[in-house]
Amino acid sequence: MKHNSENLKQYITDVPDFPKKGIGFKDITSLLESPEGTSLCLELLLSELKNKQIDKVVGIESRGFFFGMLLAQSLNVPFVPVRKPGKLPRKVITQSFDLEYGSDVLELHQDAINPGDKILIHDDVLATGGTAEAVCKMVESLGGQIVQCNFIMKLDFLEGFKKIESHPIYAAISY
Ligand code: AMP
Repeated sequence: MKHNSENLKQYITDVPDFPKKGIGFKDITSLLESPEGTSLCLELLLSELKNKQIDKVVGIESRGFFFGMLLAQSLNVPFVPVRKPGKLPRKVITQSFDLEYGSDVLELHQDAINPGDKILIHDDVLATGGTAEAVCKMVESLGGQIVQCNFIMKLDFLEGFKKIESHPIYAAISY
């Protein structure tokens, strides 16, 4: 497993000072450009879901859509998008949350999750954890049960895991 995680790292591009100075951006477009890397990443994410019942995959806009969709399709379950405000056409629930500077808002279709649904939450990167925490709150407010929060990578030095520590967390790569 460690060996595979190390293999996966080669497909992630580190971009210094993006989108602003001091941020080390983890670019997954180089991973998406590689069918081998994409298969390896999907395999790693799925390997931690064996014997777990998942009813729906919730993917976070927008980089959580890529592997969120692949996971849902592989598990043969619905994919549910969490989006920025004003994008989802039906009745939504809304959650605001704090970012390092300022705040943001996310939305989820109210009828997309039913009480008791077993939910896998997916995003590309767990950084400070504010985004994942907001999505956990929305899912739980609709009665969904979070089985796992699952990421391509987590940045442990930002301690985002503390914000969602009441849920199982898996990341294919840790930095
Ligand atoms: P956070 O709420 O701080 O955990 O941030 C998570 C969101 O911001 C994810 O949707 C990521 O796509 C994005 N993000 C945060 N930090 C980075 C980073 N260093 N590289 C790439 N994406 C990041």
